Amino acid sequence: MIPYGRQNIEQADIDAVVEVLGSDFLTQGPQVPAFEEAIKSHCDVRHAVAVNSATSALHIACMALGLGLGDMLWTTPNTFVASANCARYCGADVDFVDIDPLTYNLSAEALADKLAVAERLGRLPKIIVVVHFSGQSCDMERIAQLAQKYGVRVIEDASHAIGATYQNTPVGRCQYSDICVFSFHPVKIVTTAEGGVATTQSETLAERMREARSHGITRDPSRMQGQTEGDWYYQQISLGYNYRMTELQAALGVAQMARLETFVAARNRLAERYDKQLATLPLILPGRQPQAVSAWHLYVVQIDDQRTDISRKALFEHCRANNIGVNVHYIPVHLQPYYQKLGFKAGDFPNAERYYQRAISIPLFAQLTEAEQGQVVAILSAGLS
Ligand SMILES: *Cc1c(COP(=O)(O)O)cnc(C)c1O
Repeated sequence: MIPYGRQNIEQADIDAVVEVLGSDFLTQGPQVPAFEEAIKSHCDVRHAVAVNSATSALHIACMALGLGLGDMLWTTPNTFVASANCARYCGADVDFVDIDPLTYNLSAEALADKLAVAERLGRLPKIIVVVHFSGQSCDMERIAQLAQKYGVRVIEDASHAIGATYQNTPVGRCQYSDICVFSFHPVKIVTTAEGGVATTQSETLAERMREARSHGITRDPSRMQGQTEGDWYYQQISLGYNYRMTELQAALGVAQMARLETFVAARNRLAERYDKQLATLPLILPGRQPQAVSAWHLYVVQIDDQRTDISRKALFEHCRANNIGVNVHYIPVHLQPYYQKLGFKAGDFPNAERYYQRAISIPLFAQLTEAEQGQVVAILSAGLS
């Protein structure tokens, strides 16, 4: 089976992890700061806080921005459930903004309309989580203008987008957001097995996130109540979690970050080949956001139902039966039973629902060979004819 995504592990990665196993620190040693440095340097950003998953990073990002009971967070329905769940962890409510049918990202136009209505109703969100779907940045300049106009904070869920740029600036620099989050799950572009990071330009937000990832504990005397009692002393000053990344994960991350540019270049090359080789099939190919260079986490095609009668289910099953490990991203979050119980229903976000009916993610990962790509194209053509 050619999978839709796969990690790239070389001897250098293995050596880095094995070295940590023989060292003094399996957690809370020098590798996590080294990994944070690698992220900061790539993103050209002041702070990076590494944690055990992007889900944790989204949670501490919401905590740092003060999201709480009765607050509202908006995100896109075309995402993994974690982008919405982070609000629920904080006791906040969730609503969604429909997608742009061209890029499958949260639509800045729909956002503008929904914010105007929410202001009239006195129900503005505190936070918007935008997701750079498939690795391509959202229209951040426009989104930031709207966020500023209505006093809303912005988190970028860039789980798909490490190595991407927007306006020639690396995603993760937080040029148009408060906090940006990356995932290092093995299907993503860079992996630490499990892991995530939150970047920010704000010292205050970074400090709050560092506190939240480790029980709400500080060892900094300037942040304590009263005096420190000695070098052993720490204080718990808020309620945090254990969301720490291990040294093994961080060492793997450092080794992987050294190859980020190679990974993204390979993904771009493969995506361009798919664009050419699939051009004549009855498929809708991924649209482009101006000013954005995608990191190409996913290559999603939609079945063009104007040009073929084949259903998504039939094409999916045909590919799987022929050893092409296609997948579907995403089942709209508002249609998950958990969110339906909160009141959402089919028809609420028609663009995301229509997209979902027709979408298939086809194999794309750094070491996918041209021969394998040829196989994917051949199986797709056969399935569509
Ligand atoms: C993978 C993913 C997450 C969750 O990442 P984890 O590191 O597995 O917690 C969140 N949002 C999006 C858009 C993702 O693709």
